[in-house]
Amino acid sequence: MQILDGTAVRAEILAGLKPRIHQLSRPPGLAVVLVGHNPASEIYVRGKIKACGELGIYSEKITPAESISTGELLAIIDELNRRPEIDGILVQMPLPRQIDSRRVLEAVAPEKDADGFHPVNVGHLVAGRPGPRPCTPAGIIEMLKYYHVPLEGRHAVVIGRSDIVGKPVAIMLLQENATVTICHSKTSNLAEECRRADLLVAAIGKPGLVTGDFIAPGAVVIDVGQNRIADRALAERLGRREEFDRKGFALVGDVHPAEVARTASAYTPVPGGVGPLTIAMLMANTVRLAERHI
Ligand code: NAD
Repeated sequence: MQILDGTAVRAEILAGLKPRIHQLSRPPGLAVVLVGHNPASEIYVRGKIKACGELGIYSEKITPAESISTGELLAIIDELNRRPEIDGILVQMPLPRQIDSRRVLEAVAPEKDADGFHPVNVGHLVAGRPGPRPCTPAGIIEMLKYYHVPLEGRHAVVIGRSDIVGKPVAIMLLQENATVTICHSKTSNLAEECRRADLLVAAIGKPGLVTGDFIAPGAVVIDVGQNRIADRALAERLGRREEFDRKGFALVGDVHPAEVARTASAYTPVPGGVGPLTIAMLMANTVRLAERHI
């Protein structure tokens, strides 16, 4: 049984970016738009800005008030689209309720779309053409390649069909010549579908939903879930009581940690598996966009 360590993959990705950044005539530039004061978003954005600083990417944080209107936010995006030193724009989700999030994401110029969420880039992904890819799914593929997990001809089952993780990772696995099944909240016989997987990707947002009976012996399991749980009994069931008692919460994935360790041939831990790769791929997207602009 192998633990797929995301920090090692992240280190390799970032090391590969450094010489590319040095070759450019100016630093790549990333603008991060963070509306309001969502605590989780603030932590994510801090991590993104810090990663830029460490790599030599110019970053700018724009922090409009919670009360901003869609029109005002669109004006900010429009200005960022025009600025030549800004290569990538990222609008941190979720946005406040009064904002038309779709309009905002679609306002980002596709050639500055650091998250790969613009419909034009979703189209490029589906058509197998180059373009920025959503960061978490792209990180999963990097992880699988780093550990030489065979994909061609293998049966991959993805649980979750979100635009951010489930759908794009399923398309990327298809492009790696896996046979892909997508499961979701309306799938009947979920455990049975999952047991057919050589590669199981769980992107659900439900702590420990994937138990041993979902996993074929020897399967590779990628746990995308990042769930902060405040229920001591659940922490206990997932073998995280000690962490819970120390911190008052536990961070767990969508896969039952002890049961996956018993059944799978390889799996990503939470934390330390897929999590570290998202920011690394954001950096990779930003450098790629800068290379194209310059
Ligand atoms: P989402 O809520 O948008 O989508 C969840 C998906 O799971 C849906 O498509 C739904 O159909 C499916 N689902 C829900 N309940 C189900 C059930 N009982 N059985 C089968 N399918 C079910 O979530 P998301 O944005 O895709 O994120 C999923 C998880 O991944 C979350 O825990 C999130 O925190 C985590 N995540 C981690 C990273 C990272 O590691 N950097 C990035 C993005 C998301």
